[in-house]
Amino acid sequence: MTLKLFNSLSRSKEDFVPLHKNEVGLYTCGPTVYGAPHIGNMRTYFFEDILKRTLLANNYKIKHVMNITDVGHLTSDADEGEDKMEKGARREGKSVWEIAEEYTKMFQRNLQELNILEPNIWCKATDHIKEQIELIQKLQDKGYAYQISDGIYFDTSKFRDYGKIARLDIQGQKEGARVEANLEKRNSTDFALWKFSHTNGRSFDSAQDDATKRRQMEWPSPWGVGFPGWHIECSAMSLKYLGDAYDPNGIFYGERSRTIDIHCGGIDHLPVHHPNEIAQSEAATGQSFVKYWLHGEFMVIDEKRMGKSEDNFITLDSLKEKNITPLAYRYFCLGTHYRKPLNFSWEALLGSAKALLNLQNKVATISKAGKINTSFEQRFMEAMNDDLNTPQALAIMWELLKEEEQDAVKKQTLFKFDEILGLGLKNIKPLAVPKEITNLVKEREQARQEKNWGKADSLRQQILEQGFAVDDTEFGPVVKSK
Ligand code: AMP
Ligand code: ZN
Repeated sequence: MTLKLFNSLSRSKEDFVPLHKNEVGLYTCGPTVYGAPHIGNMRTYFFEDILKRTLLANNYKIKHVMNITDVGHLTSDADEGEDKMEKGARREGKSVWEIAEEYTKMFQRNLQELNILEPNIWCKATDHIKEQIELIQKLQDKGYAYQISDGIYFDTSKFRDYGKIARLDIQGQKEGARVEANLEKRNSTDFALWKFSHTNGRSFDSAQDDATKRRQMEWPSPWGVGFPGWHIECSAMSLKYLGDAYDPNGIFYGERSRTIDIHCGGIDHLPVHHPNEIAQSEAATGQSFVKYWLHGEFMVIDEKRMGKSEDNFITLDSLKEKNITPLAYRYFCLGTHYRKPLNFSWEALLGSAKALLNLQNKVATISKAGKINTSFEQRFMEAMNDDLNTPQALAIMWELLKEEEQDAVKKQTLFKFDEILGLGLKNIKPLAVPKEITNLVKEREQARQEKNWGKADSLRQQILEQGFAVDDTEFGPVVKSK
């Protein structure tokens, strides 16, 4: 069975063929750790997890690298404004290093709670300043970089295919350039590779106002003290860990192709961050950077993107306060294809929580697992291999539960599905239901079908008195402990 993935480069579904026979190199753009992650962010990491689990189910080995952006991401993607990290630290009266650690930990805890598989390699931008400087130097040697008063910039007009992935209208961008854009830049699409500390990373006179406010994060470089631009970290780190052959401890064992199998991120990276990564990497190596680019759509709330800097953001912890588990949120995300916007509503989320509970209850009532129903497995994998069609995969799962099939087979097949769905079904302890309770439940079901409500109620009462409860679900009665 072939795995098909929608490649943003060709804007079409393509057969997935890895560059190296066995191992797939996967790079996913990580969080900027200046604040608590929200459930919108987590949707992107959830989609990447589904991709990873589907690759695993197709028997690929994966080397997954995720970065942590702890420097250089400015409040505007156009390299203007303040460093989000420095701003976040001021807001909280802490050091940048403290907030970086705090929010990295929170992010990693959120991943765990959502049953998202950990990357093989975590890499922080601040731990890779040397690699970033080396890459900038390479770009300068090859004539792609130039210096202006606030830093070193990449000249996008020198890179032939700049913006191709996003079908950017470069001419239109030039004409429509904003008045306040950095006038020293040669092209409006040029972006910072290195920013100078003496202007606090800013251009123009307004920077002088801030010149006394020393940055907390800065490093020496061949061009002066400063800090890397946001985009260069992803090129430097993905090439380091995936472009060359490094083992997970970072030990170099030889160069191979500089092309990486898959690179992912949220859809907001399509117009700026990813074209810039491509330009830097391909200009430096002379080789194609990434074979498959995948982008996940946004989570939206009242037709607006959920964002860290908006007032509409909801965290995983705030869901827990409402007794909604992180896995219920995971289930909620499964219901919409990753390339479609996901509308958040409490009602829909509660519906997912309920559906997951029904599923968990059902699993708990089946004591033993049997064989896998291979025709359902085949259909499930066909859905997943069709560009990660999770809504269809979920529908197939519910269909199985309603099927005339042995419970033990259903359970084993569910376990197989859950290797991709990641709902933690294997952790559910089977409930030992005594035979007499099972008989009472059957009797009650019979009474319900005969519309003998009085009898059904009194049987429910008897079941309750013996420490069990019964839920009437889509696929019949489910017993749970009271
Ligand atoms: P940030 O920490 O802001 O750099 O964002 C981390 C990741 O979350 C990026 O890959 C974004 O594309 C993604 N992201 C941000 N907002 C949303 C959203 N509302 N829905 C889905 N993904 C998002
Ligand atoms: Zn990136």
